[in-house]
Amino acid sequence: MNSELYIRENIEIDMNETMSNTLTCENPSELSDNEKINIIEYHFAQIMRALGLDLYDDSLCGTPKRVAKMFVNEMFCGLNPSNKPEISLFENKYGYTKMLVEKDITLYSNCEHHFVPIIGKVHVAYIPEKQVLGLSKINRLVQYYAKRPQVQERLTIQIAEALKEILQHDNVAVVIEADHLCVASRGIKDTNSKTITSCFSGQFENEIVKKEFLFQINNIK
Ligand SMILES: [Zn+2]
Repeated sequence: MNSELYIRENIEIDMNETMSNTLTCENPSELSDNEKINIIEYHFAQIMRALGLDLYDDSLCGTPKRVAKMFVNEMFCGLNPSNKPEISLFENKYGYTKMLVEKDITLYSNCEHHFVPIIGKVHVAYIPEKQVLGLSKINRLVQYYAKRPQVQERLTIQIAEALKEILQHDNVAVVIEADHLCVASRGIKDTNSKTITSCFSGQFENEIVKKEFLFQINNIK
């Protein structure tokens, strides 16, 4: 038996113990990342077996572990509150009180109904008061909420609410335009449609301010 298979057999024995713990674990977030990886590895191997895949094939035998690590450390790392970015504010020394737009933030998320990708762009704006945000922090906040099984509507609201809480005011706007692969690659198989969601609050509820934001995201290349 090669070492990878030997390790795999032993993981499965350990997993039986882990799984019995899991049944009594009321709060999955209390699991460590390593415990989550072990549980997902075990179950993903079961999914692959059910599909008739050969886990003894050297191309496939590492897949359950790879997928488990990717889920916990990358694709769904935003489920772990300890990964929430620290957002520091700076004093608005320049007295800049016009709209600030951070557009075309790359979005890679996953639909919670099918676990397939949502790919798109996020546009965020706010109107500074006494404090301003570090620009990259907006991107980091978007990525944190995107790295979860998501629906686009909730993602839009979560980003807006997080920004309001950090800024301590409501002058925030978020627009997301995205392709959902569950619409494009399966089911209705529509590769052209896009989903657009928006959240406008505070001064962005004013039609003139909203129009200026939409003009910025649509027309400046
Ligand atoms: Zn879906």
